[in-house]
Amino acid sequence: MEDFNPNRYAVINEKNPREIVMLRGLGCSWRRCRFCDYHLDFSPDSSANFALNREQLEKVTGIHHKLEVINSGSFVDLDEETLALIETVCKDCHITQVHFECHWRHREAIPPFRKRFAAHGIELKVKTGVETFDALFRESYLDKGIDARSPEELAEYFDEICLLQGIPGQTAESMDRDIQTGLAYFERVCINIMQENKKPIKPDPRVIASFTKELYPKYIENSRVDILMENTAFGVGGVVEHAE
Ligand code: SF4
Repeated sequence: MEDFNPNRYAVINEKNPREIVMLRGLGCSWRRCRFCDYHLDFSPDSSANFALNREQLEKVTGIHHKLEVINSGSFVDLDEETLALIETVCKDCHITQVHFECHWRHREAIPPFRKRFAAHGIELKVKTGVETFDALFRESYLDKGIDARSPEELAEYFDEICLLQGIPGQTAESMDRDIQTGLAYFERVCINIMQENKKPIKPDPRVIASFTKELYPKYIENSRVDILMENTAFGVGGVVEHAE
Protein backbone atom coordinates (compact mmCIF):
# COMPACT_ATOMS: atom_id res chain seq x y z
CA MET A 1 0.00 0.00 0.00
CA GLU A 2 1.20 3.49 -0.81
CA ASP A 3 0.63 6.40 1.50
CA PHE A 4 -2.32 8.28 0.03
CA ASN A 5 -4.06 11.14 1.70
CA PRO A 6 -6.92 12.05 -0.59
CA ASN A 7 -10.06 13.92 0.39
CA ARG A 8 -12.64 11.24 1.17
CA TYR A 9 -15.95 13.03 1.80
CA ALA A 10 -17.87 15.54 -0.30
CA VAL A 11 -21.37 16.80 -1.00
CA ILE A 12 -22.51 16.96 -4.63
CA ASN A 13 -25.25 19.55 -5.01
CA GLU A 14 -25.71 19.49 -8.78
CA LYS A 15 -26.92 16.56 -10.88
CA ASN A 16 -28.25 13.69 -8.78
CA PRO A 17 -27.49 15.50 -5.48
CA ARG A 18 -25.83 13.20 -2.97
CA GLU A 19 -23.09 12.81 -0.44
CA ILE A 20 -20.07 10.79 -1.53
CA VAL A 21 -17.49 8.94 0.51
CA MET A 22 -14.32 7.34 -0.78
CA LEU A 23 -13.68 4.46 1.58
CA ARG A 24 -10.84 1.99 1.78
CA GLY A 25 -10.93 -1.78 1.73
CA LEU A 26 -8.78 -4.73 0.84
CA GLY A 27 -8.43 -3.32 -2.65
CA CYS A 28 -9.46 -4.37 -6.09
CA SER A 29 -8.86 -8.07 -6.66
CA TRP A 30 -8.45 -7.60 -10.43
CA ARG A 31 -5.73 -4.91 -10.47
CA ARG A 32 -4.88 -5.51 -14.10
CA CYS A 33 -6.47 -2.59 -15.94
CA ARG A 34 -3.70 -0.91 -17.90
CA PHE A 35 -4.87 2.60 -17.13
CA CYS A 36 -5.61 2.39 -13.41
CA ASP A 37 -3.70 3.23 -10.27
CA TYR A 38 -6.84 3.59 -8.17
CA HIS A 39 -6.30 0.02 -6.93
CA LEU A 40 -3.29 1.28 -4.96
CA ASP A 41 -5.72 2.77 -2.44
CA PHE A 42 -6.05 -0.27 -0.20
CA SER A 43 -4.84 -1.80 3.03
CA PRO A 44 -4.76 -5.44 4.11
CA ASP A 45 -5.45 -4.20 7.66
CA SER A 46 -9.25 -4.32 8.08
CA SER A 47 -9.13 -2.60 11.49
CA ALA A 48 -7.20 0.34 10.04
CA ASN A 49 -9.62 0.46 7.11
CA PHE A 50 -12.62 0.50 9.42
CA ALA A 51 -11.11 3.32 11.51
CA LEU A 52 -10.53 5.38 8.38
CA ASN A 53 -13.98 4.59 7.00
CA ARG A 54 -15.74 5.38 10.27
CA GLU A 55 -14.13 8.82 10.32
CA GLN A 56 -15.58 9.55 6.87
CA LEU A 57 -18.99 7.99 7.51
CA GLU A 58 -19.37 10.12 10.65
CA LYS A 59 -19.39 13.18 8.35
CA VAL A 60 -22.50 11.98 6.49
CA THR A 61 -25.58 14.06 7.34
CA GLY A 62 -28.20 12.70 4.93
CA ILE A 63 -28.70 16.17 3.46
CA HIS A 64 -29.82 14.76 0.10
CA HIS A 65 -31.05 11.36 1.37
CA LYS A 66 -28.63 9.74 -1.09
CA LEU A 67 -25.14 8.42 -0.52
CA GLU A 68 -22.52 7.25 -2.99
CA VAL A 69 -19.85 4.91 -1.68
CA ILE A 70 -16.74 4.41 -3.75
CA ASN A 71 -13.68 2.35 -2.96
CA SER A 72 -10.86 0.87 -4.94
CA GLY A 73 -12.50 -2.19 -6.39
CA SER A 74 -15.95 -3.37 -5.34
CA PHE A 75 -18.21 -3.21 -2.30
CA VAL A 76 -17.20 -6.81 -1.60
CA ASP A 77 -13.70 -5.51 -0.80
CA LEU A 78 -15.00 -3.48 2.18
CA ASP A 79 -14.89 -5.04 5.63
CA GLU A 80 -18.09 -6.18 7.32
CA GLU A 81 -17.88 -3.56 10.09
CA THR A 82 -17.80 -0.82 7.47
CA LEU A 83 -20.78 -2.29 5.64
CA ALA A 84 -22.75 -2.53 8.88
CA LEU A 85 -21.87 1.08 9.70
CA ILE A 86 -23.06 2.20 6.26
CA GLU A 87 -26.41 0.55 7.02
CA THR A 88 -26.60 2.26 10.42
CA VAL A 89 -25.67 5.67 9.03
CA CYS A 90 -28.28 5.32 6.29
CA LYS A 91 -30.97 4.45 8.82
CA ASP A 92 -29.96 7.23 11.21
CA CYS A 93 -29.66 9.88 8.48
CA HIS A 94 -32.79 8.84 6.54
CA ILE A 95 -30.82 7.91 3.45
CA THR A 96 -33.00 5.93 1.08
CA GLN A 97 -30.65 5.33 -1.83
CA VAL A 98 -27.03 4.19 -1.81
CA HIS A 99 -24.75 3.88 -4.83
CA PHE A 100 -21.98 1.27 -4.74
CA GLU A 101 -19.38 0.12 -7.23
CA CYS A 102 -18.74 -3.43 -8.33
CA HIS A 103 -16.56 -5.20 -10.86
CA TRP A 104 -18.21 -7.66 -13.24
CA ARG A 105 -16.39 -10.57 -11.55
CA HIS A 106 -18.39 -9.98 -8.34
CA ARG A 107 -21.77 -9.64 -10.04
CA GLU A 108 -23.30 -12.62 -8.23
CA ALA A 109 -22.80 -10.79 -4.92
CA ILE A 110 -25.11 -7.98 -6.05
CA PRO A 111 -28.62 -9.52 -5.67
CA PRO A 112 -28.12 -10.58 -2.01
CA PHE A 113 -26.51 -7.22 -1.28
CA ARG A 114 -29.55 -5.43 -2.71
CA LYS A 115 -31.78 -7.57 -0.49
CA ARG A 116 -29.71 -6.79 2.59
CA PHE A 117 -30.28 -3.04 2.17
CA ALA A 118 -33.86 -3.41 0.94
CA ALA A 119 -34.68 -4.92 4.32
CA HIS A 120 -34.10 -1.41 5.73
CA GLY A 121 -36.03 0.29 2.92
CA ILE A 122 -32.80 1.35 1.21
CA GLU A 123 -32.54 1.08 -2.56
CA LEU A 124 -29.15 0.21 -4.05
CA LYS A 125 -27.80 1.53 -7.33
CA VAL A 126 -24.79 -0.44 -8.47
CA LYS A 127 -22.28 1.01 -10.92
CA THR A 128 -19.58 -0.71 -12.91
CA GLY A 129 -16.69 0.68 -14.93
CA VAL A 130 -17.30 -0.83 -18.35
CA GLU A 131 -15.09 1.93 -19.85
CA THR A 132 -16.29 1.10 -23.40
CA PHE A 133 -18.77 -1.31 -24.96
CA ASP A 134 -16.22 -2.19 -27.66
CA ALA A 135 -15.30 -5.54 -26.10
CA LEU A 136 -12.23 -6.21 -28.26
CA PHE A 137 -10.74 -2.78 -27.55
CA ARG A 138 -11.65 -3.05 -23.88
CA GLU A 139 -10.21 -6.48 -23.25
CA SER A 140 -7.18 -6.52 -25.57
CA TYR A 141 -6.06 -2.96 -24.81
CA LEU A 142 -7.44 -2.01 -21.39
CA ASP A 143 -7.47 -5.54 -19.89
CA LYS A 144 -10.65 -4.78 -18.00
CA GLY A 145 -11.69 -8.33 -17.20
CA ILE A 146 -15.30 -8.18 -18.38
CA ASP A 147 -16.55 -11.08 -20.46
CA ALA A 148 -20.18 -9.98 -20.67
CA ARG A 149 -21.48 -10.67 -24.16
CA SER A 150 -23.62 -7.54 -24.47
CA PRO A 151 -24.85 -4.37 -22.75
CA GLU A 152 -28.06 -6.27 -22.02
CA GLU A 153 -26.14 -8.83 -20.00
CA LEU A 154 -24.38 -6.08 -18.03
CA ALA A 155 -27.71 -4.35 -17.43
CA GLU A 156 -29.06 -7.50 -15.76
CA TYR A 157 -26.77 -6.68 -12.83
CA PHE A 158 -25.84 -3.00 -13.00
CA ASP A 159 -27.85 0.22 -12.89
CA GLU A 160 -25.12 2.67 -13.84
CA ILE A 161 -21.84 2.61 -15.77
CA CYS A 162 -18.58 4.49 -15.98
CA LEU A 163 -16.89 5.15 -19.31
CA LEU A 164 -13.22 5.96 -19.78
CA GLN A 165 -12.68 8.49 -22.55
CA GLY A 166 -9.77 10.48 -23.91
CA ILE A 167 -7.43 7.59 -24.63
CA PRO A 168 -5.55 6.64 -27.81
CA GLY A 169 -7.68 4.86 -30.40
CA GLN A 170 -10.95 6.60 -29.51
CA THR A 171 -12.75 9.07 -31.77
CA ALA A 172 -15.67 11.44 -31.21
CA GLU A 173 -17.86 8.87 -32.99
CA SER A 174 -16.72 5.91 -30.88
CA MET A 175 -17.07 7.89 -27.63
CA ASP A 176 -20.52 9.11 -28.64
CA ARG A 177 -21.56 5.56 -29.49
CA ASP A 178 -20.51 4.41 -26.02
CA ILE A 179 -22.42 7.25 -24.33
CA GLN A 180 -25.53 6.49 -26.39
CA THR A 181 -25.32 2.79 -25.56
CA GLY A 182 -24.86 3.66 -21.90
CA LEU A 183 -27.93 5.90 -21.92
CA ALA A 184 -29.99 3.26 -23.73
CA TYR A 185 -29.32 0.46 -21.24
CA PHE A 186 -28.48 2.14 -17.93
CA GLU A 187 -29.97 4.79 -15.66
CA ARG A 188 -26.85 6.93 -15.48
CA VAL A 189 -23.54 7.30 -17.30
CA CYS A 190 -20.39 8.67 -15.67
CA ILE A 191 -17.68 9.73 -18.12
CA ASN A 192 -14.14 9.78 -16.70
CA ILE A 193 -11.68 11.67 -18.85
CA MET A 194 -8.33 9.93 -18.70
CA GLN A 195 -5.69 11.59 -16.59
CA GLU A 196 -2.05 10.69 -16.66
CA ASN A 197 -0.70 8.32 -14.03
CA LYS A 198 2.14 5.83 -13.91
CA LYS A 199 0.29 3.13 -15.82
CA PRO A 200 1.02 2.39 -19.51
CA ILE A 201 -2.09 3.92 -21.07
CA LYS A 202 -1.80 7.68 -21.38
CA PRO A 203 -4.37 10.34 -22.18
CA ASP A 204 -4.49 11.39 -25.83
CA PRO A 205 -4.72 15.21 -26.02
CA ARG A 206 -6.29 15.06 -29.49
CA VAL A 207 -9.03 12.71 -28.31
CA ILE A 208 -9.68 14.87 -25.24
CA ALA A 209 -9.84 17.98 -27.46
CA SER A 210 -12.40 16.27 -29.67
CA PHE A 211 -14.44 15.21 -26.61
CA THR A 212 -14.34 18.78 -25.28
CA LYS A 213 -15.42 20.27 -28.59
CA GLU A 214 -18.04 17.78 -29.72
CA LEU A 215 -19.34 15.75 -26.78
CA TYR A 216 -19.02 17.93 -23.68
CA PRO A 217 -21.50 20.54 -25.00
CA LYS A 218 -23.84 17.75 -26.15
CA TYR A 219 -24.07 16.02 -22.77
CA ILE A 220 -23.15 18.51 -20.06
CA GLU A 221 -26.80 19.47 -19.46
CA ASN A 222 -28.00 15.85 -19.52
CA SER A 223 -29.15 15.05 -15.98
CA ARG A 224 -28.27 11.35 -16.50
CA VAL A 225 -24.67 12.06 -17.46
CA ASP A 226 -21.80 12.97 -15.13
CA ILE A 227 -18.65 14.24 -16.81
CA LEU A 228 -15.43 14.18 -14.80
CA MET A 229 -12.88 16.19 -16.73
CA GLU A 230 -10.65 15.69 -13.70
CA ASN A 231 -10.77 12.77 -11.31
CA THR A 232 -11.35 15.11 -8.37
CA ALA A 233 -14.48 16.62 -9.92
CA PHE A 234 -16.79 14.95 -7.38
CA GLY A 235 -14.73 16.51 -4.57
CA VAL A 236 -13.11 13.25 -3.48
CA GLY A 237 -9.87 11.64 -4.57
CA GLY A 238 -6.94 13.76 -5.57
CA VAL A 239 -4.14 11.28 -5.48
CA VAL A 240 -5.63 8.17 -6.97
CA GLU A 241 -7.51 7.60 -10.20
CA HIS A 242 -11.20 6.87 -9.89
CA ALA A 243 -11.95 4.25 -12.46
CA GLU A 244 -14.02 1.35 -11.23
S1 SF4 B 1 -10.16 0.04 -12.99
FE1 SF4 B 1 -11.26 -0.97 -11.32
S2 SF4 B 1 -11.13 -3.17 -11.87
FE2 SF4 B 1 -9.52 -2.13 -13.03
S3 SF4 B 1 -7.70 -2.28 -11.73
FE3 SF4 B 1 -8.68 -0.30 -11.32
S4 SF4 B 1 -9.97 -0.65 -9.51
FE4 SF4 B 1 -9.46 -2.68 -10.41
